[in-house]
Amino acid sequence: GRGVAVVTAVASRLALQRRQLEETLAPFRLHSQQLKAVQAQMRESMVRGLRGESSSIRMLPTYVCAMPDGTERGDFLALDLGGTNFRVLWVKVGSRSEEGIKIINRVFSLPESVTQGTGQQLFDHIVDCIVDFQKENNLSGQTLPLSFTFSFPCKQLGLDQGILLNWTKGFKASDCEGQDVVSLLRAAIRRRQGVELNVVAIVNDTVGTMMSCGYEDPHCEVGLIVGTGTNACYMEELGNVCAVPGDRGRMCINMEWGAFGDDGLALQEFYTPFDLSVDQASINPGKQRYEKLISGMYLGEIVRQVLLHLTHLRVLFGGQEFPSLQTKDIIKTKFLSEIESDLERWQVRAILEKLDLQADCEDALLVREVCQAVSRRAAQLCGAGVAAVVEKIRENRGLDRLSVTVGVDGTLYKLHPHFSEQVKDAVRELAPQCCVRFLLSEDGSGKGAALVSAVACRLAGAAGP
Ligand code: BGC
Ligand code: MG
Repeated sequence: GRGVAVVTAVASRLALQRRQLEETLAPFRLHSQQLKAVQAQMRESMVRGLRGESSSIRMLPTYVCAMPDGTERGDFLALDLGGTNFRVLWVKVGSRSEEGIKIINRVFSLPESVTQGTGQQLFDHIVDCIVDFQKENNLSGQTLPLSFTFSFPCKQLGLDQGILLNWTKGFKASDCEGQDVVSLLRAAIRRRQGVELNVVAIVNDTVGTMMSCGYEDPHCEVGLIVGTGTNACYMEELGNVCAVPGDRGRMCINMEWGAFGDDGLALQEFYTPFDLSVDQASINPGKQRYEKLISGMYLGEIVRQVLLHLTHLRVLFGGQEFPSLQTKDIIKTKFLSEIESDLERWQVRAILEKLDLQADCEDALLVREVCQAVSRRAAQLCGAGVAAVVEKIRENRGLDRLSVTVGVDGTLYKLHPHFSEQVKDAVRELAPQCCVRFLLSEDGSGKGAALVSAVACRLAGAAGP
């Protein structure tokens, strides 16, 4: 009778919804052939970048050629700009076996008026923060060697010179691109009279991460960040680095892999209409195309685009268009991490409730599936990149098998419940001849950056008068 008809109608509506969900998520599910292709294209772009040929990956020399050996000592200042916060740090490097490394740091907020104002405002603000920090810690008047962790693409001509090529992530301060960042900092120091600083090194966060892990594990020759943005660095044979003369020894290369695909030659086929919308609405359309598929700044936005689409299809929320879902950046990476952890459905609903999204149990499950598809694709693409890097190192050394450690930092990698495992799975599959250990970095941007200066001071001392 009628009851049966209703049940059948509900069942077929559910079946239709399921099919529409599957169709929507299908392009996010990558096959291993596709990941192998990404790995191969990444590898090719690396080689072209190293040779100075046109490539979306810049492969920037860092002038970091040696890892810490444990004999470094001293007090350092460090700055960390380019992640979620701006920090000033005082890093005391003692003997590895006894005191170890001690850090005192303070986080300063960086309002959008500063990150997207003028370069002068940005650097004046930085110097103000340093001065406050020095006062609080009775450091005024001492000129400690300073490491500047500056997590943006820089063309370095030495350890203490780096020309900002372009801003990434949410930054857009004027008059900085094309300028030497250390000169900009020094100019701000001069404007604020009575302050003296001794800038020794400019350091990408990937490099700081590699160095901080290298302090504990000498096999650490790769640095990886998956946080607000994403990037990697690794030790390359100097002979392969065309931009720097010499062919003995190694140098750390800041890959700037976030820009992979910006030349339109790779990743094209993976860009879904959702990814395109996210890119178009970003501060830098067409740029950082690999980063936009992987890092924390964008995953929530991709999820939001998919949820909007599913709402239009009436697969979600009974087709009800909640205004909050129209709000850019309402879904943070933290949201994905929470939703994907082992929660009961009512807990997922409670999380959605906080975003003003009234979901029933069925909705809650679907939202979780969307998050899973988006973050899993991100992890696999990231894994394909890591596989390309470790395989390059292995072949550089003519080894059948390579054991190597990757130092990692970044909120997405560290806080998401499954991301790190999925990266590892992808690397195991794509680089079977490499045995890769992933080591979480403890404050690479602070400790690692200080170690860059510490190693430089040690080497200068050894070569000195
Ligand atoms: C920057 C890199 C940085 C990465 C992680 C990217 O947007 O271009 O220099 O290492 O973010 O912070
Ligand atoms: Mg950072």
